[in-house]
Amino acid sequence: MTRPSDTEELAVLATSLRRHLQRQQCVGIRFIPKGDLLRETAAVREGGTNLLSGRDGDLFADSSAMYQAKNLEELRDAIGDCRRCKLWSGRTHLVFGVGNPKAKLMFVGEGPGRDEDLQGEPFVGRAGQLLTDIITKGMGLRREDVYIANVVKCRPPENRNPEPDEVASCEPFLKKQIDLVKPEIIVALGKFAVQTLLQSKVPITKIRGSWHSYHGIRLMPTLHPAYLLRNPADKKLVWEDIKQVMKEMSGESA
Ligand code: SF4
Repeated sequence: MTRPSDTEELAVLATSLRRHLQRQQCVGIRFIPKGDLLRETAAVREGGTNLLSGRDGDLFADSSAMYQAKNLEELRDAIGDCRRCKLWSGRTHLVFGVGNPKAKLMFVGEGPGRDEDLQGEPFVGRAGQLLTDIITKGMGLRREDVYIANVVKCRPPENRNPEPDEVASCEPFLKKQIDLVKPEIIVALGKFAVQTLLQSKVPITKIRGSWHSYHGIRLMPTLHPAYLLRNPADKKLVWEDIKQVMKEMSGESA
């Protein structure tokens, strides 16, 4: 496992603290009594698990149990019955990810839709079938050869776009998944995956089809399969991007 740098861990801790304070503010708490902070710190120091369940108010959850996870199962356990953002309230299942835990190729999408929420697996609806076709018919791989995950793990209501605070709350889980799977190539599907991983606001239509780097991992941005269902003429653009990925995987572009 790659240990996070002090700076990365501090950044996650600061994000956790900010979210914690925002949640406290939402329920009308304007300041935290000094004794409460000391109590939480002591519980973490003692390795207590009661504050690491991922529920509201878990100040240190992201930076402790999550970072300590040595494999995907431990990460899933650390996420638990997550309520770090408001999407928890509408979900049937938290859709963690699926596939080969040591996959060379990882696909990252936006978030679960209705079918994914019901089945607890990413990309199983109509858009998922299209992604499966790309993987199996296009690339000649099996779905279980790759790893598939989303930026947010719970379904946004009515399939709306995930909101910035939801992405901010959930993205540490995706980044830890990538850290554990250690893919050689990531295919980022659509605007939210690309923006989250590259921290870039450049439109997907401008950035797709060219190689980028996510912490040294080759990253290919391409269009989301759900977009392709609405705009089938653009399938050829995705196929161009996927051909580049296949070339890279076969070592031809080296
Ligand atoms: S979307 Fe992510 S952060 Fe929000 S409740 Fe679900 S798992 Fe937690």
